[in-house]
Amino acid sequence: MIRPLAPILLLSAALAASAQSVPVRGVYSDPRPLWNAGHKLSGLGINAVFVHGGSINQTLFDRATAEGAKVYAEFATLNGKGYVEKHPEAWPINEKGEPAPAASWFMGVCPTDPAFRQYRVKQLEDLLSKFNLAGVWLDYFHWHAQFEDPHPILPETCFNTSCLRAFQKSAGIKLPSEDPAAAARFILSKHETAWRRWRAEVLLDWAKQFRSIVKQRRPNALIGVYHAPWTDSEHSGARYRTLGLDIPLLAPVFDVFSTMVYHGRMGQSPAWVGENVKWLVGQVGPSKVWPIVQATGEPTPISAQEFESVMRKAVEPGSTGIMMFTTRAIAEDPAKTEVLRRLYRAWTPPTP
Ligand SMILES: [Zn+2]
Repeated sequence: MIRPLAPILLLSAALAASAQSVPVRGVYSDPRPLWNAGHKLSGLGINAVFVHGGSINQTLFDRATAEGAKVYAEFATLNGKGYVEKHPEAWPINEKGEPAPAASWFMGVCPTDPAFRQYRVKQLEDLLSKFNLAGVWLDYFHWHAQFEDPHPILPETCFNTSCLRAFQKSAGIKLPSEDPAAAARFILSKHETAWRRWRAEVLLDWAKQFRSIVKQRRPNALIGVYHAPWTDSEHSGARYRTLGLDIPLLAPVFDVFSTMVYHGRMGQSPAWVGENVKWLVGQVGPSKVWPIVQATGEPTPISAQEFESVMRKAVEPGSTGIMMFTTRAIAEDPAKTEVLRRLYRAWTPPTP
């Protein structure tokens, strides 16, 4: 009686695999390209839109809500472009004591500059007061660097006055000099471990404050983060060393990590998407992992089949949400729209 059972077991396993449900089926960026192409969000199985905070207006909010989608705001956090030019004291300083150059298209900021922090706090409070958001997702949440390109740019920052003073106070270390280049040499040769740890704690402090602001004003809203997709070992540990992202430290503060597995832009294969999502699920658990995959054909084309492959690999480890970069890339390619519709309908849990 054992042999005849085997096909039944195989069939059950296949049904279980196809019956995976993904509670949060999102799109990233303004949903208007889908609307302009004649789609309804509910018709595509979409129940979440993630939109840049500055692009959310009442019309968008009301229509998305009417079509059954919750609205989440992307909140650009530690990007300094447009700010550091006017406020040079917030420009990140590198180990040579010089203003760090832009990291390709990205320009960061000094995370300990008090005026910059106040500026972002005010923006977040204004955003929360305007809309009953389902969540706020911090974007560009890292020290100055570039991780979205095949060859990451990983500078040592920041050695300006506010960082050197905060580090000394926190670590209980007296620097022989507050000259940025001399201080950087001293810190990196004698106190590197304490320095890396302090940098991670600076980000933790931002995360805690922003969580508290979100939960005070919108108690039901989630706080998430668009997160660098590297494991502990990739790029010699640069996620922690350079970006300052310590997952065990941040996991209790963020409700969700949206790991940015942009395989095409980062010169990686679709298989890498599955491996990295699986690794993160192992770190923080599936309920905290809602990956963002690449749909856009920039800089190199992504076929509808490849898009389907990365979507599937991103949820296979049990992720409870997903979205893709970007809505426009889906809307302008009927084959990708069809992949999205098919997967999202299959992943919609049956109504009780
Ligand atoms: Zn600084």
